[in-house]
Amino acid sequence: MPGFRLKMATQLGEKVAAEAGLTQFPIDPRRIAEGKGITVQAKPAHVKGVSGALIFAGDDVTLIYSSEYNNVGFENFCMGHELGHYFLPGHPEEIMNQGGSHVSRADFTQNTSIELEADHFASGLLLPSSLTRSFLSKNQVGLEGILKLADVARCSRTAAAIRSAECCEYPVAVIVSQGEHVSYAFLSDGFKRLGKNLAFLKKGTPLPDSATLRFNRDPENVLGIKQESGTTTLSDWFDGPPGITLDEEIVGLGGYGYTLTVLSGEDLPIDPDEEEDEERDLEDRWTPRFAYGR
Ligand SMILES: [Zn+2]
Repeated sequence: MPGFRLKMATQLGEKVAAEAGLTQFPIDPRRIAEGKGITVQAKPAHVKGVSGALIFAGDDVTLIYSSEYNNVGFENFCMGHELGHYFLPGHPEEIMNQGGSHVSRADFTQNTSIELEADHFASGLLLPSSLTRSFLSKNQVGLEGILKLADVARCSRTAAAIRSAECCEYPVAVIVSQGEHVSYAFLSDGFKRLGKNLAFLKKGTPLPDSATLRFNRDPENVLGIKQESGTTTLSDWFDGPPGITLDEEIVGLGGYGYTLTVLSGEDLPIDPDEEEDEERDLEDRWTPRFAYGR
């Protein structure tokens, strides 16, 4: 999916938080829902495998979120994701076309455009760039900083990882996996420049022989939110040049059944052009094109 649409979704999330006057961590998505007259409800415990839903019925909008993992960060992320379906251009229409209700699987595990856009909206809403950058300037790049950010911002660990990759100057790759396969991968612009045309890790790509693959072989690691770290190389994961060593840090995401891997390296070059590139990128490619019904 074109990156500019996801960037635009992130920026809209930031804007919605700012316009609601929420300018400090943690951003409370419930306040935004209440401000729009949206009814917020926890999902009944017996409904499994979904992270929430958004239901349009006449003038009433109901937002349902998952509270089954007793994880405030994940709950906030689920609410942010549903708010994405409310605020993102084209989403309410898409949901109305499907009969008025949408069931979500949030947190970067799906690759449909509507779900990923809502995930990026939620990330921008809960982790505005200025707050995230100021946090990162005082904390180490890597899993430890990401977990701390998730804590301070009360958002999901995956969102904290992806926003860290977006907002820091270092090459960072974030990979969400389940079992033997990649569910979602996000590469910072700095990471992409480690090699020419780094192959994009698509959903369903088999994990390489790695600490992550070994970690996933024991479901207890995932359920028990265990952590592990090792080293790997760029060329193990991507068709990149050989000889680039990376730290591989892993954490199980608990009952939701996924694993988060952060690939980074402190000795990798800082990219001085990053900010400039980003602005040019947005100027060049930002066009308000929304084509749904995929
Ligand atoms: Zn959704």
